[in-house]
Amino acid sequence: MTVTQQLPDSNGNSGDARSLHFIEQIIEEDNRTGRFGRKVHTRFPPEPNGYLHIGHAKSICLNSAMAKEYGGQFNLRFDDTNPTKEETEYVESIKEDVRWLGADWEDRLFFASNYFQQMYDWAVDLIKKGKAYVCDLSGDEIRATRGTPSVPGTPSPGRNRTVEENLDLFERMKNGEFPDGSKTLRAKIDMASPNFNMRDPVMYRIVHASHHRTGEQWCIYPMYDWAHGLEDSIEGITHSICTLEFEHHRPLYDWFLDQLGVYHPQQIEFARLNLTYTVMSKRKLLELVKGNYVTGWDDPRMPTISGLRRRGYTPGSIREFCRKIGVAKFNSTIDVTVLENSIREDLNHNAQRRMAVLRPLKVVIDNYPEDQTDWLDAINNPEKEEDGTRKVPFTREFYIEASDFLEDAPKKYFRLSPGREVRLRYAYYVTCTGCVKDADGNVVEVHCTYDPETRGGSSPDGRKVQGTIHWVSATHGVTAEVRLYDRLFNVENPDDPQNPLDYKEYLNPNSLEIIANAKVEPDLANPSGATRYQFERIGYFCPDPDSSQGHPVFNRTVSLRDARIR
Ligand code: ATP
Ligand code: MG
Repeated sequence: MTVTQQLPDSNGNSGDARSLHFIEQIIEEDNRTGRFGRKVHTRFPPEPNGYLHIGHAKSICLNSAMAKEYGGQFNLRFDDTNPTKEETEYVESIKEDVRWLGADWEDRLFFASNYFQQMYDWAVDLIKKGKAYVCDLSGDEIRATRGTPSVPGTPSPGRNRTVEENLDLFERMKNGEFPDGSKTLRAKIDMASPNFNMRDPVMYRIVHASHHRTGEQWCIYPMYDWAHGLEDSIEGITHSICTLEFEHHRPLYDWFLDQLGVYHPQQIEFARLNLTYTVMSKRKLLELVKGNYVTGWDDPRMPTISGLRRRGYTPGSIREFCRKIGVAKFNSTIDVTVLENSIREDLNHNAQRRMAVLRPLKVVIDNYPEDQTDWLDAINNPEKEEDGTRKVPFTREFYIEASDFLEDAPKKYFRLSPGREVRLRYAYYVTCTGCVKDADGNVVEVHCTYDPETRGGSSPDGRKVQGTIHWVSATHGVTAEVRLYDRLFNVENPDDPQNPLDYKEYLNPNSLEIIANAKVEPDLANPSGATRYQFERIGYFCPDPDSSQGHPVFNRTVSLRDARIR
């Protein structure tokens, strides 16, 4: 049976009926049976050990969308159970990114560390029930005694300790009497289980380290599998959505909650997002940052949310991307062009059009008065009439793209070449009369004449020209730095375990090209950071925070699908 419903699209219009994805189906079924009292409460549970990336965005959008769609609530919860890798800087960046994406946790910002005492008390309960014990084996020994798929694990010598002994040892673990790694608390489940996660998993380990929130208060820290379900339970989460690799952890999630007899959310797994030409592991992203392979977490080439934001992506384009790729139960890799197309669509509709010349070549109109400026009307956004027009200054000298002139041009070259006439966007028809070269034979200046009758870009005699090129006044234009980005990696899957080399060997050495002397229209001298632009015939650009008064810096968000200038 296919279940369908009307869903609004990104513009708020009711779109076509579409199928419910499997998570929506689960929620609707739970609502039908009244399993959670028709309540939907989701959460996003990042570990504050790095910046968020586009994969996290998929989870954030999914969790917050489910809450919104079913009139429920969404929590932001930091899973801060690992003191050695976590920092406040990450907490702050994560909050900023989640907020920027438009996911609203209202007043429900939580930290797993706030539940440490409750978790400890619950662990004591399990010990009292004979369901947990203190183990003296080292991490290596625990791994070595876990068995194989066909051979059961060897029980730890601690497995037969009495409840009293376990209570005493666990309390002394908490009180700091034992060094790191010397003891653990383990669940007493089944050393012969076909699911390795059930072979007496570790619940607590000893780590004498300062925690970014609880300081020195604790020296035992809960393991993810023990902590996660408890966090969900405490917060009254209904649907605990996580990625596929936790599927085999679900029996353990369920076991802990069942043994404690506390409120029990439903864990649901979905396929994580993988994208071509990038890496998405926090460990690798951290390595790229620490090793200065990129300029920081927000380097516009990074797949991080902060990188995408600096690159010029909008929250709406990322939400739309996440909606488009959907949720599934099997892993796949999405082509990065799908992401690029979602920002193209957004910016095609919303970006202000401007003229910018990336590689300037000077043109002189010999029959145009020297100190005259003609202010011409230019359309700000053909997709949005309400954005109106602006005045663009035209002068005797201006810049065009070097690639828009060719001295010996083939017949089909519809740009400037001696003897040929082209339209200057919003301005005049000009005819090329020749060029000036330097000692090395490079063209340094182009000469033209203009037809004053063609003001605005059309000829009263109906004469047609084939090409239209853009330009920027040499007198009024502003010099800008433009940063052109390409893929961070040269190969589709730098992470592929089949690759013979380390992923860093596949970094693209040409992923950033800086153009120091681009020319842009005068009103771009001090652009507002929030405005997005289309530089005509080139691509979409946004101002970079490195801009200073009168010295704008632009990032290329994405090229035009059919860009003429690259
Ligand atoms: P690690 O656990 O290795 O530090 P992580 O990427 O899993 O890295 P978390 O902070 O645990 O980081 O992730 C928070 C949430 O985001 C988790 O619920 C996780 O399932 C989800 N998530 C992480 N990566 C992706 C991805 N590529 N696609 C979808 N969801 C993801
Ligand atoms: Mg994780």
